[in-house]
Amino acid sequence: TSAVYNGIIYLFICASQITYIIRYVIHSLVRVNKPYFEDIQMKNSGGKGWAAGLISTIQDAKNYIISSEEAVVIHDKYPKARHHYLVLPKADIPDIFHLDSSHLVLLEELYLLAQNVIEVKHGHLDDFKIGFHAQPSMQRLHLHVISKDFVSDCLKTKKHWVSFNTELFLYYQDAYALLKSGGCITPLGKEKVQQLSNCALKCNQCEYEAKSVPDLKRHLLEHWTQKQ
Ligand code: AMP
Ligand code: ZN
Repeated sequence: TSAVYNGIIYLFICASQITYIIRYVIHSLVRVNKPYFEDIQMKNSGGKGWAAGLISTIQDAKNYIISSEEAVVIHDKYPKARHHYLVLPKADIPDIFHLDSSHLVLLEELYLLAQNVIEVKHGHLDDFKIGFHAQPSMQRLHLHVISKDFVSDCLKTKKHWVSFNTELFLYYQDAYALLKSGGCITPLGKEKVQQLSNCALKCNQCEYEAKSVPDLKRHLLEHWTQKQ
């Protein structure tokens, strides 16, 4: 009987150990998985929060340089040139891909404000680029008004440069003409974006081809200091 008794105890211990092992495995899986799921949620909401930054900025009228019934002008928080402003409609238009010919009057208003802010800042229209990013990252339609010097500490990467100095920058006039002819703006294909992103770092003011972003920045600063 003692052998049977020992056997039962042995089986009981084995069973509880197996249960313990199973519970341990489940717990560690849950521990591993939980932060993983939280990360994704944080990434999503964090991404959304960051991408909605312009929408929060325009909630506060103190951030307006100028405004009208339909639109506002704010400073770009990370200016990629000596002057860099954003013109946004008050109406909830998410991006350029939601525009059609019914928005032409609104676009004219955005452009008018773009010209006004240049005037207010004592700039000259010819020294500015006015247009949209073909691949916007921030929510709410926004028109970039940026001086052509591209002298700024915030201009750090090739991606920054090409976004304003290749077809990744959609001039206001081209967007307007496309919409006027009944067309709409569609995202650029992945291959096109890659091709444009890999292009040479050509100066926008002369024939110089920079070897690197720091080299380009040095060169742009020379242009700017010569102009002063
Ligand atoms: P895009 O690539 O056209 O979506 O450009 C978005 C622009 O918004 C960039 O030039 C950023 O520097 C700028 N930006 C990002 N966050 C803010 C913010 N909270 N307020 C103002 N400008 C911002
Ligand atoms: Zn140059």
